[in-house]
Amino acid sequence: MRLILLGPPGAGKGTQAQRLVEKHGIPQLSTGDMLRAAVAAQTEVGKRAKAVMDAGELVSDDIVNAIVSERVDEPDCANGFILDGYPRTLQQADAVEAMLSAKGLKLDTVIELVVDDKALVGRIIKRAEEAAAAGQPVRKDDNAQVFEERLREYYKKTAPLTGYYYAKGALRTVDGMGSIDEVTGEIEAVLASL
Ligand code: AMP
Repeated sequence: MRLILLGPPGAGKGTQAQRLVEKHGIPQLSTGDMLRAAVAAQTEVGKRAKAVMDAGELVSDDIVNAIVSERVDEPDCANGFILDGYPRTLQQADAVEAMLSAKGLKLDTVIELVVDDKALVGRIIKRAEEAAAAGQPVRKDDNAQVFEERLREYYKKTAPLTGYYYAKGALRTVDGMGSIDEVTGEIEAVLASL
């Protein structure tokens, strides 16, 4: 199964992706996680991405397209994968289509987590507080100022993907405002209906 999770920052894509990993045994490909790993390892990609990420802006399409394309070739992706936080621009969406067709693969569905904007900043602040309380590193972009820029980037560049996938008949929407279990249940219902 190959699926894309769409939704603004803080919608719960990462949390739901982890649930899907456990249940379906396919990996979560989070471009945010991959980029943070590159920043931590101070690779060339990491060095180029760091300032952009810290400002809440999007890293260039070429960089993320290349890292996902390479990742999809890893053996653990053979039975499918969950794209979390990618694609994030129309150019990336076209790149996904070209990449999958070049590899002879097919996308099963795109699930959009629909959430109320006003709840998002609260979720992000909570995530930062929980990470700090657990002694984990707090993401530099999980604060109210940078979050505003992330949300602006989302509406400018990522929100159009809803129309893009709707027009292709690939979009399924799920109410992302319920509890984590409720959202998981709705996602599983969508997957069962495919
Ligand atoms: P995330 O963990 O998905 O919230 O991503 C954190 C940051 O990584 C974003 O604010 C962007 O700077 C960068 N990023 C992650 N995924 C992408 C992507 N698909 N395209 C461009 N930038 C990305």
